Amino acid sequence: MCKGFSNPFLSGILGLRELFFPRRCVVCGRFLSIEEQDLCADCLSGIPLTYQWEIGQNAAFERLARRFEVEGVAALLFFGSESDYRKILYAIKYSGRCQLGYRMGRLLGTQLAGSRMFSRCQAVVPVPLHPLRRWKRGYNQAEEIARGVASAMDLPLETTLLQRCRYTRTQTRLRGDAKTKNVQGAFQLQPVSTARLQKAGIRHLLLIDDVLTTGSTLAASADPLLQAGFRVNCATLAFAGG
Ligand SMILES: [Zn+2]
Repeated sequence: MCKGFSNPFLSGILGLRELFFPRRCVVCGRFLSIEEQDLCADCLSGIPLTYQWEIGQNAAFERLARRFEVEGVAALLFFGSESDYRKILYAIKYSGRCQLGYRMGRLLGTQLAGSRMFSRCQAVVPVPLHPLRRWKRGYNQAEEIARGVASAMDLPLETTLLQRCRYTRTQTRLRGDAKTKNVQGAFQLQPVSTARLQKAGIRHLLLIDDVLTTGSTLAASADPLLQAGFRVNCATLAFAGG
């Protein structure tokens, strides 16, 4: 889990650090004011929102519905190849900015909480990393986003249900069919957590990943959930190729 700084001594050090190394906007690089966090006011108001949480048959839904039986799908923002907003995803995934993941997850969760499409969701499940990759990175970016979503939607976060049982190559440089083959059968359910959720009557899950590209990772993750009788909804921070 991403650790916050509740210790006043550490907070003091961070305050001093900010004096000498002022924070910059993740998107445009401009210095941030005291009131701004992560993104400057201009970049925050300019986020290319998808509004997919307002449209059942949206482009993200159609992309996943071709692969598996999915209920609702939405991403927070569009992720064009030229867009500076890609930097948010890179910062969360590669620069250790896990708290940014949590806060962007809260933004996403706030939209989903007000959407009837996602009103049946009973628990939030992040797409897991293989334990070795998680150990190398120190955290799972999808889990940090999911933590923010769960907090904004006031839903439980389930991090033990879905497990990655096979170490796979990173999807970033793979194309279409290679992506599908790479992650096929890579996920399984943890039996004790599965039984606990089923006993509690939890059926509708919200699966969270950082970005939706071809949908192969979400499809492979959804597969064991669907086989166990769960209904699957999906949400990501970004929607690529929209
Ligand atoms: Zn900015």
